[in-house]
Amino acid sequence: DVAMYTAKRAGRGRFAVYAPELDGSARDAGLRRAIETGRMVLHYQPEFALADNRITAIEALVRWDHPTHGLLMPEDFIDLADETGAIAQLGDWVLRTACREALDFPCRVAVNVSARQLAQPNLVTSVARILGETGLPGGRLTLELAEGALLPIDEHLKARLDGLCALGVTLSVDDFGLGHAALNVLRDLPVSTVKLHGSLTAGVHTDRAAHDLAAALVAAGHALGLSVVAEAAEHEAQVAALRAMGCDRAQGFGLCPPLSRTRLDERLADPARA
Ligand code: C2E
Ligand code: MG
Ligand code: MG
Ligand code: MG
Repeated sequence: DVAMYTAKRAGRGRFAVYAPELDGSARDAGLRRAIETGRMVLHYQPEFALADNRITAIEALVRWDHPTHGLLMPEDFIDLADETGAIAQLGDWVLRTACREALDFPCRVAVNVSARQLAQPNLVTSVARILGETGLPGGRLTLELAEGALLPIDEHLKARLDGLCALGVTLSVDDFGLGHAALNVLRDLPVSTVKLHGSLTAGVHTDRAAHDLAAALVAAGHALGLSVVAEAAEHEAQVAALRAMGCDRAQGFGLCPPLSRTRLDERLADPARA
């Protein structure tokens, strides 16, 4: 059914499909109920070292398995969760589930943290508690922090990030270059990795200026002692260009799409691919 297929693929349309008639507080109640009743699901997308194609980390990406509207993507509900504060509950669930499932991973697990989550004074305590409860060593967890969440840089933010580092957790700046592009964030905060937003890596194999800009950002990251990950690598020529410019790692549909836990395990068990 072509119409159905199109509706399912049109990510932006889904939110309207799922609750146009409800106001914010009703949608918030629905979201909180979904978290409590186990309707949230994690999919996992590996990240690869460009030097040898080995999996270096696996990122947890949340979905809402809605009984009537199917699998809702984060863009359909993360902003709402952030606005209403339900992100605290959702973030706790995601972190606990990802840390527990990652006990069997051959590499680190990466978990996304929104601006609102990062602003919570008890974030370090929550992460420490969840690591303790699940038994995952802090060194096996990376937190991906949205670039915008890191501004303005102040002492509270620095202390919080230092607290996370003290647990052995590594920090990554997600979607770098999307809007704020403050290179001083990379210099002044204890982050070890920068993930270049897909808009910066899109044309590296077809466009000279796009290539040179990405290469300059890779060099800037390296100059600051960071490793650089390219997001949204969709084509083989793009991956080759990123490898040639010295980008450390890449993630994207062209390498491996987000997978259910079952499909991830199949992929990890396949020696020809993993
Ligand atoms: P992100 O952390 O930058 O995650 C990457 C997004 O890009 C994912 O979308 C992924 O499916 C998509 N992607 C991967 N490879 C490609 C590619 O080759 N091309 C393109 N065009 N896209 C690709 P997804 O899963 O819809 O997540 C969207 C965003 O939602 C994430 O962006 C992250 O910011 C947020 N998010 C996801 N899960 C969580 C979560 O548990 N907590 C929080 N706070 N945010 C989350
Ligand atoms: Mg991410
Ligand atoms: Mg990203
Ligand atoms: Mg993104």
